Amino acid sequence: MSFEMTTSSTLFERAKASIPGGVNSPVRAFGSVGGTPPYLVRGKGALLWDADGNEYVDMVGSWGPMILGHADDQVVQAVQEAAAKSLSFGAPHEGEIELAETVIERIAPVEQIRMVNSGTEATMSALRLARGFTGRDMIIKFAGCYHGHVDSLLAEAGSGVATFALPGSAGVTDATAHDTLVLPYGDQEALEAAFAEHGERIAAIITEAAPCNMGVISPGNFNEFLRRTADQHGSLLIIDEVLTGFRASREGFYGVDGVAADLVTFGKVIGGGMPVGAFGGRADIMQRLSPLGPVYQAGTLSGNPLATAAGLATLRQLEEPVYEQITTAGDALKRELTSALSAEGVPHTVNTAGTLFSVFFTDGPVGDYEAAKAQNTEAFAAFFHAMLDQGVYMPPSAFEAYFVSRAHDDAIIDRVVSALPAAARAAAQVG
Ligand SMILES: *Cc1c(COP(=O)(O)O)cnc(C)c1O
Repeated sequence: MSFEMTTSSTLFERAKASIPGGVNSPVRAFGSVGGTPPYLVRGKGALLWDADGNEYVDMVGSWGPMILGHADDQVVQAVQEAAAKSLSFGAPHEGEIELAETVIERIAPVEQIRMVNSGTEATMSALRLARGFTGRDMIIKFAGCYHGHVDSLLAEAGSGVATFALPGSAGVTDATAHDTLVLPYGDQEALEAAFAEHGERIAAIITEAAPCNMGVISPGNFNEFLRRTADQHGSLLIIDEVLTGFRASREGFYGVDGVAADLVTFGKVIGGGMPVGAFGGRADIMQRLSPLGPVYQAGTLSGNPLATAAGLATLRQLEEPVYEQITTAGDALKRELTSALSAEGVPHTVNTAGTLFSVFFTDGPVGDYEAAKAQNTEAFAAFFHAMLDQGVYMPPSAFEAYFVSRAHDDAIIDRVVSALPAAARAAAQVG
């Protein structure tokens, strides 16, 4: 069985003439799994419809933001009301304060916060601020951690960079790359050695709160170790919660391991589907930002009224019952994934961090990028297409988290589960 994809195929071919690769973000092109991406026309709750009229259960959730499901009534209404009053002011309005206060109320280490327009902007700005605050140049990042397409952070990044096995990216200067030290995730000795050699020059360690862009990896007590090490050397700790924020728990991953960063970055859920990011943290650091301090940072559309309305309407609904629902649905899926893949003898490892999880198509354990890259990506591609053919839209890469929303109720999970045996068989045939 295969879905009719004539309209999507035609659109994809047409797109390639005017948009590089036909897409505005690489992983959407299905490069690592092959085939044609469905062109989507509508979503409601956990369901998506494409231009050929096919219906899918959505396991991508726009890569995280749609934690309430698509076209949530309250979010849509909030955006419509805001839109009627102007799409943008480029000037202060009360919604910005409400969103800032909402985040600060939830996440204790965040004393002040500034809105930007993407997760990339958030990490880029946090790095500049860390450098401006400490007067140091170097940044430590971990292999397989993705922090957006910031020049200096593209070295051994996960996500699309993992999928496409790029060494980093063309167009990043040696000088920029030179100020970034890339260490294996979870490697305490490597971190100590780096600080022993460069300690005085290291402005900050940046890490994903829990790596989710090379597949999901639990940090264990690594964040705590990073906190201690940063403190010993006068460096800052930047915890990237763009993906985990308001998803791993009500307080993000901070609510899971309680490690307080100096700066925290947000994106995805905080915008409820609008283009939003934010970075926040210690007030003494945040007050080094322009107009108070010497670190320049700005944005024509930052704090946009539609974006803040969508973010607020989303965060206001994100209370414990939502996280319980997501956990229950995720647990059921993990159980059934394991049983379907085991039944067909497909090597796999299921990793969990907070409410987040993913499946690696390799015998585990998977604790770093090297182990994640040992996956059988062809087996994943076969699995992916068998799921898609049965109306389940999984992330089109073996290196991504699976996204469950509040709208993934029992009936939706049953639809995913019933597709698993055939998909596991397809993966087993690739071997
Ligand atoms: C998605 C992501 C980013 C980048 O966010 P964009 O909005 O795509 O720029 C940064 N860090 C992490 C951990 C992410 O998952």
